[in-house]
Amino acid sequence: MTLVYAFANGKADGNKDMHDVLGGKGANLAEMTNIGVPVPPGFTISAVLCHDYLDKGSLSDDLKREMRAAMSRLEEATGRCFGSGPRALLLAIRSGAAVSMPGMMDTILNLGLNDETVRILADESNNPQFAFDSYRRFVQMYGNVVFEIKNSENGGDPFEHELEQLKRARGIERDIDLEAEDLEGLVNTFKSIVREHTGQPFPDDPEDQLLRAVEAVFRSWNSRRAGDYRRVHKIPNTLGTAVNIMAMVFGNLGEDSGTGVAFTRDPTTGANELFGEFLVNAQGEDVVAGIRTPEPLTNMRDKFPQAFDEFTKISEVLERHYRDVQDIEFTVERGKLYVLQTRGAKRTAAAAVRVAVQMVEEGLIDKSMAVNSLDPDQLNQLLHPMVDPETHAQVLTEGLPASPGAAVGRVVFNADRAEEMAGQGVPVILVRRETSPDDFHGMVASQAIVTSRGGMTSHAAVVARGMGKCCVVGARALDFDEPNHRVRVGDTWIDEGDWLTIDGTKGNVLLGQVSLVEPELGDDFNTLMQWADERRRLRVRANADTPEDAARARGFGAEGIGLCRTEHMFFEGNRIDAMREMIVAEDEPGRRDALRKILPMQRADFVGIFRVMDGLPVTIRLLDPPLHEFLPHGEADIAELAENMGVRIERLRHTVETLTEANPMLGHRGCRLGITYPEITEMQAWAIFEAACEVAAEGVEVYPEVMVPLVAHVEEFRRQAAIVRKTADRVFEKRGQRIDYLVGTMIEVPRAALTADEIAAEADFFSFGTNDLTQTTFGLSRDDSGRFLPHYVETGLLKDDPFQSLDVSGVGQLVNLAVERGRAKKPGLKIGICGEHGGDPASVVFFHGAELNYVSCSPFRVPIARLAAAQAAIKD
Ligand code: PEP
Ligand code: MG
Repeated sequence: MTLVYAFANGKADGNKDMHDVLGGKGANLAEMTNIGVPVPPGFTISAVLCHDYLDKGSLSDDLKREMRAAMSRLEEATGRCFGSGPRALLLAIRSGAAVSMPGMMDTILNLGLNDETVRILADESNNPQFAFDSYRRFVQMYGNVVFEIKNSENGGDPFEHELEQLKRARGIERDIDLEAEDLEGLVNTFKSIVREHTGQPFPDDPEDQLLRAVEAVFRSWNSRRAGDYRRVHKIPNTLGTAVNIMAMVFGNLGEDSGTGVAFTRDPTTGANELFGEFLVNAQGEDVVAGIRTPEPLTNMRDKFPQAFDEFTKISEVLERHYRDVQDIEFTVERGKLYVLQTRGAKRTAAAAVRVAVQMVEEGLIDKSMAVNSLDPDQLNQLLHPMVDPETHAQVLTEGLPASPGAAVGRVVFNADRAEEMAGQGVPVILVRRETSPDDFHGMVASQAIVTSRGGMTSHAAVVARGMGKCCVVGARALDFDEPNHRVRVGDTWIDEGDWLTIDGTKGNVLLGQVSLVEPELGDDFNTLMQWADERRRLRVRANADTPEDAARARGFGAEGIGLCRTEHMFFEGNRIDAMREMIVAEDEPGRRDALRKILPMQRADFVGIFRVMDGLPVTIRLLDPPLHEFLPHGEADIAELAENMGVRIERLRHTVETLTEANPMLGHRGCRLGITYPEITEMQAWAIFEAACEVAAEGVEVYPEVMVPLVAHVEEFRRQAAIVRKTADRVFEKRGQRIDYLVGTMIEVPRAALTADEIAAEADFFSFGTNDLTQTTFGLSRDDSGRFLPHYVETGLLKDDPFQSLDVSGVGQLVNLAVERGRAKKPGLKIGICGEHGGDPASVVFFHGAELNYVSCSPFRVPIARLAAAQAAIKD
């Protein structure tokens, strides 16, 4: 097995397709070297060795031997010596997993410096200030990464603290304006910080420095932030990171040097123009960390004209080569350009859509590639709300529009607090000077992120865009009073818990809770979705219970309603009273009284939905209320209901007690209700068919599909279907009108799946209720799983929450089996799915493979399902 892959002077051992071994960064460094991009030489240690190190706790002798050989070749390629003169070789050590995890793992620059090599560097560059600036950076990064000396309790990084103090004492703002002597003093202070923390002197031997740095980068795979990031982005823990070791090039050599980050197209809007930022006289980390606010890339044209021209050409070459927008890191060392990294650029959903359509028009990619280039989940962002342009909100302050959308929440000033309050169901806005990867868990928990420092490529901006979370950065007017947990803009104070509204599209921070509106989807979005629709085989319907939801679903491209939960129509206002009356009625006449009140409400709802869905099927499910959701809770509710019903409180309380179930999710719900109280089914069928006749008479094309829930035995279905069909005949006869309709069933308990052949003989269609099917297959209550399922997912026992992403190997078997048995009995049987999984891209891929006819999901997820279904079809 090859352990180390070199890249130098136009020739590399690896290439871009070797992500698994080299990580994304290493694979692209190799590729760029091969195609003639100026990359500093170096080598990559295989990611395969990461877990080997994590298991054993030490680097193998084989690896050390290969590293020594690679170092000799690197010395040869650069004409420099590691640890000695006349020209000293310094190294950059960078992590890089197969899947990009920006900023989540560690980097060390300027490795190889000690009291001797720093003099060599000073002599060679004729610039002691630069040499000591590099040295202090090295000790600081090494201290942070290898010795894990990071933020302490009482405010921040001890190295930064010393640096800030020194700058204040000298009355200067920029690090690079410190004199060589001051920097040398700082190196010594930094080394004593290390000694204090570790009880050992700072390692001076470059080889020792290197080995420990490689180990630290491997260890950073298991850091909390990296683990959190993997969980959110569903990256397997088993991958591991590679380690890239490259000869240093210096952006901090003076005013003719610099460093920057650029995107080949604007990552926020998708506009086809080079977009980026750079800093003169700085090292790479300065741009990403957001500590100094960088200049726009266009200024580089004046400052480094030759390097700028070359960079423009290279960025075009790379974009064409990868056929994707690239995010490129570069350094200019005394006017000469080096590319340090390229990767597919993280971009907003709006940019992703625009770029995909543009690239097809430019002939760079085909339509299927365009459809594949989007992450379905990311579309969420496009469907996000915006600040209502009609409202006149007070702008507290402005920053850069780093990630679009809008959000309202309460202010918090640190990540742990964000997580804590969000855990209590409070929407929070994380407000910080800048974010570091250690804040990741707080960013996940927040509705939006605001920082006072940093640019469009700062950590906060990149991470928020990746998560599709609204973000404003560089809101410089924010003046923090950390000890008192507050922040000030002018004379307005904002305390923890105050409400703010964040407009990430404009970059505004607004006071209070401002109203938000739904977004409009542009032409590019429609073009792309049309390409997706041309490619998919699965139909996409929506779960909608009201005409408003149905209209929104249709707007998002739903091809019908796959589930109308009739009990949801009773959650609102005083409608719940009628429902409660029916549930607690003690006999059939009592129930019929309550049902008479319910009937007109249901009919009106169905009329509204049928009208909106003119020409498309509407699946209406018979009542399936887990009774406890509707029982009156508490004395006040009981008293009120007793009064409405004209019964004694004691009697009602007794009835409620007798109706209380130990396991409501497995109790008197679903078709069991209609079986015991057929008058309920009869009323609902009556309402459905009367509504259908009414709208048909108006000229609406109506296709009702009546669905029986929670069927376990074919006889349950047979009896319920008989009531529905008989009621339909009565309505048709009364109105002198006939309407085509279907009666089908949900498949949501294992017994229904196992006996799908018997049920198919009776039913016109199946729809998998994967929420209940998951519950009953796992034997895991939907109501209670929240207490322990997160632990299962966090500890990796389960890869995903099975209520969010279908458990293919378990529940999926029942789906496949029911499809097979159902269609064996009734070829061509229409089969859909309407559990939450219908809007989960990974599950949609499974349903495509299971040859269902449609998925049905919440309206906002309809475009996501359309895209996921297209991607599944393209993969075929
Ligand atoms: C299901 O069980 O998957 C389903 C769609 O029904 P409900 O969530 O209403 O039980
Ligand atoms: Mg169900």
